Amino acid sequence: MNTAATRERDLSGITPSGHLTLGNHLGALRRFVQRQGRREGFYFIADLHALTMPHDPVRHRLLTLSTGALFLAAGLGADRSVVFVQSHVPAHVEMAYLLECTAHVGELSRMIQFKEKGGRPGTRASLFTYPCLMAADILLYEARSVPVGGDQSQHVELTRDLAERFNVTYGETFVVPELVPAALAARVADLQHPARKMSKSAPDDAAGVLRMLDSPDVIASKIRRAVTDSDGEVRYDPETKPGVSNLLEILAALVGSDPAGLAPRFRGYGPLKASVTDAVIAELGPIRRRHDELMADPAELVRLLDAGAERAHSAAATVLTRARKAMGVA
Ligand code: ATP
Ligand code: MG
Repeated sequence: MNTAATRERDLSGITPSGHLTLGNHLGALRRFVQRQGRREGFYFIADLHALTMPHDPVRHRLLTLSTGALFLAAGLGADRSVVFVQSHVPAHVEMAYLLECTAHVGELSRMIQFKEKGGRPGTRASLFTYPCLMAADILLYEARSVPVGGDQSQHVELTRDLAERFNVTYGETFVVPELVPAALAARVADLQHPARKMSKSAPDDAAGVLRMLDSPDVIASKIRRAVTDSDGEVRYDPETKPGVSNLLEILAALVGSDPAGLAPRFRGYGPLKASVTDAVIAELGPIRRRHDELMADPAELVRLLDAGAERAHSAAATVLTRARKAMGVA
């Protein structure tokens, strides 16, 4: 079988459930950019996954394009990796259906998202079936290992089960991905609620969420208002000083240092916040400008995303054809 199983591929999607945050940048985009060149990378905007919950079509379309522009602006794409919108590559949906015909109702009912949100009136059927789409996302690109954080491991376990069942029932078709715990990446906390993770799906006006597209003034104001504590000493101690420690971690991630080592440089919270502000603006400013250029030239943005979809389509078509044949879908 001539598959890409011998090649190491990097594969990751981000659901456009809100405007991307500094957490998404440090924990995902920037890491993807750093890995380019070492591996073949497929990075997609998982627009279909955002449809499992009530959504506004106009906002959804804008968020999808803007997220695509941010991927490109951060340095992904061109000759270095493949950036595309999930729905532009129909193989994802086709493969998802084949996997729905492989999955059992029992295992889908045990998925955490469905157990937590599936009981409400008006629950979309896609909230029940989306794990098959996620399995399709992974299996189409024959990634051998999928690095995931704790909240994603159930999806990869299901993907493995479906791939193995399919292979046993219809013949060797899929590479069964291994689940590898993601390397400990920066975990950026909400500036207002340092015990919580910073999340893109927080309300647009959440004061503790730094968005990748925030203007320098907004960034400065959010960091100025970040929650600290009353003892006044800049010290790295996530247990007792979560707010200050989060600011030190952000700074450390941006300047390439370690948070405990940076702490003694600051005599008070004001100077620490000023340094964090400068570092965040220096990192995000150029990305925001490039994003804005792309959004102002939709033809160019669409051209770049179409080129990515074309390359993703070529990669995915082989596996889809094999799965269709194996299942008897001529
Ligand atoms: P949502 O609220 O929709 O779950 P999110 O901001 O948590 O949005 P995800 O779509 O869950 O983002 O994750 C996208 C990528 O960003 C993942 O690789 C995840 O590890 C990373 N990521 C998300 N939030 C953070 C954060 N606060 N710090 C570091 N990395 C993060
Ligand atoms: Mg999340």
